[in-house]
Amino acid sequence: MAADRMTSELAGLLNSPEAARVGAVLVIDQDALVANWRAMAALASGAECAAVVKANGYGLGDVAVASALWQAGARSFFVADIEAGMRVKKALPASRTMVLHGVPAGTETDLTEQGLIPVLSSLAEIGRWGTHARHLGRQLPAFIHIDTGMNRLGLPPGELDRLCNDPENLLGGIDLQGWMSHLACADDPLNPFTAEQLRRVRAALARLPKAPVSLANSAGIFHGADYHFDLVRPGIALYGANPAPWLPNPMRPVVRLLARILQVRDVAPPDTVGYDATHRITAPGKVAALGMGYADGYPWSLAGKGMAMVGGHPAPLIGRVSMDLLTVDVTSVPDHQLQVGGWADIIGPHRDVDQVAKEAGTIGYEVLTRLGSRYHRIYVGG
Ligand SMILES: *Cc1c(COP(=O)(O)O)cnc(C)c1O
Repeated sequence: MAADRMTSELAGLLNSPEAARVGAVLVIDQDALVANWRAMAALASGAECAAVVKANGYGLGDVAVASALWQAGARSFFVADIEAGMRVKKALPASRTMVLHGVPAGTETDLTEQGLIPVLSSLAEIGRWGTHARHLGRQLPAFIHIDTGMNRLGLPPGELDRLCNDPENLLGGIDLQGWMSHLACADDPLNPFTAEQLRRVRAALARLPKAPVSLANSAGIFHGADYHFDLVRPGIALYGANPAPWLPNPMRPVVRLLARILQVRDVAPPDTVGYDATHRITAPGKVAALGMGYADGYPWSLAGKGMAMVGGHPAPLIGRVSMDLLTVDVTSVPDHQLQVGGWADIIGPHRDVDQVAKEAGTIGYEVLTRLGSRYHRIYVGG
């Protein structure tokens, strides 16, 4: 039922004037997005389930993603920078929106005027936020990020010691929303470093004032209740890539990428296809040009490896990936299913985000976040 509705809804949207103007469309299934958030919330049922919508909602549109999840009951969102936070907060004024990059000098007023909550990663930042709180004459909310081995952001051990020795003083002016840390290796269930980070979190908490705690990203949620604490922070799982690579993907696919068939031609030996004439035609056949390329975030490294699907028939990528074009071998596609102006699946049921990433030598996160700004985004469901 749902699939049927989505298909006819999608067919209508693909016929819209907006879709007609672009070479490729990114279809985002909001029902799947919401189902994935609910699945994460159910897995961490003792904790609040936030949503990480940094990098423009992993490429799917941060305001659209946050709004759909807000409707489903999500109340806390994490973004990377203040600009993204402003967008989310404007759309969802009652949300609790955290800025992972913290409070760079000079941004204090931006954060407070927008009602954004910084994640503080150093004593200097804690001091800066506390000073601003005194200046405004009120407590200011913040999370504090403790580094437990990632060595990226978060209080380093020496600063943590100083905080543990004098929390009253150093946390002056701060309305502490929670302690936070981040797992480095949660996507590898055999890596003992994950348990070591949990041990370090607990050791730190034993020496700090009581406050809610947040540790798990998507993969971390799969490590069980010990890792859930009070707030979980899934990102990638919401967007349908596999957060637990040791399991068959438990998430529903959220994106489908379709490219327009711009032209179809007959080819025969000794023809070649594309830049540098890298692909040689060895038998008579047909080639289609599709309206997207590496400028849309489709990896250049997929030359000779990618696979499109046309009318249910495989259409291997041949030749180089161009800036705005792909060339695919459509010899096996029957003529009645091969229409100029029609659509080819690039990411979809035949090739999910993780598979495309693997073929390109990257990770699903990068494929999703690079699904560029040029696509026309179509939201279905919701
Ligand atoms: C990106 C990020 C997350 C979400 O990670 P996923 O692996 O996408 O679930 C959570 N917490 C922090 C601090 C992050 O930077």
